Amino acid sequence: MFENLSDRLERSFKILKGQGRITEINIAESLKEIRRALIEADVNYKVAKSFTDEVKQKAIGQEVIKAVNPSQMIVKIVHDELAALMGGTATPINLKENPAVILVSGLQGSGKTTFSGKLALHLKKKGRGVLLIGGDIYRPAAIDQLKVLGEQIGVEVYSEPDNKTDAVALVQNGIRYAKSKGGTFNTIIIDTAGRLAIDEQMMREIAAIKEAVRPSETLFVVDSMTGQDAVNTAREFNERLDFDGVVLTKLDGDTRGGAAISIHSVVDKPLKFVSMGEKMEALDVFHPERMADRILGMGDIVSLVEKAQEQFDEEEARKLQKKLARDQFTMQDFLNQIQQIKKMGNIKDLASMIPGVGKALKDVDMDNSVFKQTEAIIQSMTPAERENPGLLNGVRKARVAKGSGTDVAAVNRLLKQFDQTRKMMKMVAGGGGAMARMAGAA
Ligand code: GDP
Repeated sequence: MFENLSDRLERSFKILKGQGRITEINIAESLKEIRRALIEADVNYKVAKSFTDEVKQKAIGQEVIKAVNPSQMIVKIVHDELAALMGGTATPINLKENPAVILVSGLQGSGKTTFSGKLALHLKKKGRGVLLIGGDIYRPAAIDQLKVLGEQIGVEVYSEPDNKTDAVALVQNGIRYAKSKGGTFNTIIIDTAGRLAIDEQMMREIAAIKEAVRPSETLFVVDSMTGQDAVNTAREFNERLDFDGVVLTKLDGDTRGGAAISIHSVVDKPLKFVSMGEKMEALDVFHPERMADRILGMGDIVSLVEKAQEQFDEEEARKLQKKLARDQFTMQDFLNQIQQIKKMGNIKDLASMIPGVGKALKDVDMDNSVFKQTEAIIQSMTPAERENPGLLNGVRKARVAKGSGTDVAAVNRLLKQFDQTRKMMKMVAGGGGAMARMAGAA
């Protein structure tokens, strides 16, 4: 998630590279990129503007400490400001009253029912006695869905299948039922009816439920995939309900980050939970700091870029790019590349600095020895063979295999891999694409 935003920020940070002091002029481009990225990620324009103003104020005039460069300093400032924008610290839900009544509101399809189940499980695991109330009197399927979830997590669901007219009475009956059970339930979660869009009748109904039961906590559930609409919906619900907190759902999807960033500042209410999957366990308490990490999601990209810059000789890179484009990339070049990469450090550490890759690699066993066999095979080739792998007939392959302590199958594998790499690189380098840019600019 949020790749778009982090990519953009990352690019703007690179612009700042190598400058000793952050000034109006050298930060201007980065701020513009940050603002553009935020707006593209569906952040409200005004929020993006005030955010970048804040970052600018904090950043300008800062001497850049020797150990870090301006881009790293901006990352830190942007990170802290993002966290502050989303509320600073995590705000827990209010469970003090007995029973604690939690009213769950939101549009239909936002993930309200799923969230109600998740919250029930979350609180049950904390040792609370939870009753779910199915308050959607218009859609029998919604009640069935809640019942299925309730069964799955071992939480009782109160519903009135025949009540199709009075949601307020239903909820009141549910609470009365909970209280009649002598301390079994100290927590009540009310799932309410939603509509596909803001609708006066729905608003009136949920406002009436709130008025009648005075919940300890009113939560507003919103689908993070709906972007700027999420912010508008939040605003309208807040005007009617004055809710206490926001739940952001479907963060596991291909969602843009804007909702998380702007909702808080537009409605001035804390985000309290994030839902990230259809499984009942996929619920997290919202932590602004963690969310900021995630939005930036750039691992340690800055130091990766620097390492690459230290190691790659620009002149060499340009030569290589030309060779690639002309399809003159040889086994010797391949070997040189491997040695360059090894100079940059441990392959796993390097890879883990690439956004999104770090986590995936956590449990993968990988180190520079993955190159050993490849190096050994290439080193067993004669200079002529390295220039022109086509020379490698059966006899030569057997010699190379023996020399490198491998077998002919391994040599064939490498040749095939080399061939594919060369084809791919030729395509990319010829088109002036990302790999070529990397080889040229990094
Ligand atoms: P409601 O109409 O607001 O009660 O929404 P539902 O709880 O029925 O959710 C609507 C759809 O979104 C269902 O298919 C859910 O399985 C799905 N859903 C809910 N929360 C999440 C989530 O966090 N991630 C994903 N991927 N899907 C979700």
